[in-house]
Amino acid sequence: MIYKKYQDLELSALGMGAMRLPVMDGDDAKIDEKAAAEMIAYAMEKGINYYDTAWGYHNGNSEIVMGKILNQYPRESYYLATKFPGYDLSNMDKVQEIFEKQLEKCKVTYFDFYLFHNVCEMNINAYLDEKYGIFEYLMKQKENGRIRHLGFSAHGSYEVMKRFLEAYGEHMEFCQIQLNYLDWSFQDAKAKVELLKEYHIPVWVMEPLRGGKLAKLSQEDTSKLKALRPDENTPAWAFRFLQTIPEVTMVLSGMSNFEQLKDNINTFEEDKPLDEKEMEALLSIADGMLNGRVPCTACHYCVSHCPQGLDIPNLLELYNEHVFTGGGFIAPMALMAVPEEKHPSACIGCRSCEAVCPQQIKISEIMADFSNKLNA
Ligand code: SF4
Ligand code: SF4
Repeated sequence: MIYKKYQDLELSALGMGAMRLPVMDGDDAKIDEKAAAEMIAYAMEKGINYYDTAWGYHNGNSEIVMGKILNQYPRESYYLATKFPGYDLSNMDKVQEIFEKQLEKCKVTYFDFYLFHNVCEMNINAYLDEKYGIFEYLMKQKENGRIRHLGFSAHGSYEVMKRFLEAYGEHMEFCQIQLNYLDWSFQDAKAKVELLKEYHIPVWVMEPLRGGKLAKLSQEDTSKLKALRPDENTPAWAFRFLQTIPEVTMVLSGMSNFEQLKDNINTFEEDKPLDEKEMEALLSIADGMLNGRVPCTACHYCVSHCPQGLDIPNLLELYNEHVFTGGGFIAPMALMAVPEEKHPSACIGCRSCEAVCPQQIKISEIMADFSNKLNA
């Protein structure tokens, strides 16, 4: 395992995200604890010392299960990160209650890393609003040792991140952003890395494989990469890309089975940054992939905000399929299993979903376009 120096710590360059743990019966809330414990035992054995959970992952159960499992290891043998759930505005006035509950859920007396979760357009005003006292409370926890390192995760635009940094940047010790070779230009990730550099804030990476999308490429793209590095598998390319960016300290991957975990650990046995030619090839593949596709990561943040109860990520996936294959039968066939009142045509264009979408997808416009395409 490669380790990165961070202040006085040695962090494994690969961290384990606890948002996609193995589950039972396809139910996201029912974590398969035995399988998760086995994965963590293996991760520990192979040198992963960073574990990242959050209040909302697995319907609130990720913190509980991670707490239960990690509690079997000496507290100083792992670093635990969790986050304040400001992606839901109704939590804003509950920072103390939530923080205390998180310590209890995770069975710890302090968090090594604690983040403002998902700073974005929807919550930036509330995060900066002193009346909620979130920053003040978290700084106090840092003073009394219950938070060792304070940072934030950001899904919003460059401008939102800048506002947050102007207010709290000097106190932020790390920042978690969505960084991968698709988002390098698409989500402005390159500019965000530069901005963090100005504040001397190291980068933590989330979605290195963009929700698994970079784990498998088309036959053509796979061959292009194989010609450059015959022994590297496709997901490893996404990690090698990140190893090329000096500002990156931590790469978090939400691994949901043993095979992914083993593969990723193997990749992180070595530091093998890309050379110029390889970087060029990868970014050109990214350009091709982005052509016309909607970058939904199926995070589901939008779903509870839709007054029509549409399964937005599912519809966007079908839209991508439809656009990518230039029509075809798969999307119309899949929609036959969806009630009429949940079709893209049921969208009333209210844009509530767009206010919370970390990927800034213009969902209402896509629903209208999808509806037109299906009726064409
Ligand atoms: S714009 Fe459409 S998809 Fe989005 S919340 Fe409104 S009705 Fe739902
Ligand atoms: S549309 Fe946006 S908020 Fe909804 S699931 Fe996709 S990425 Fe998440």
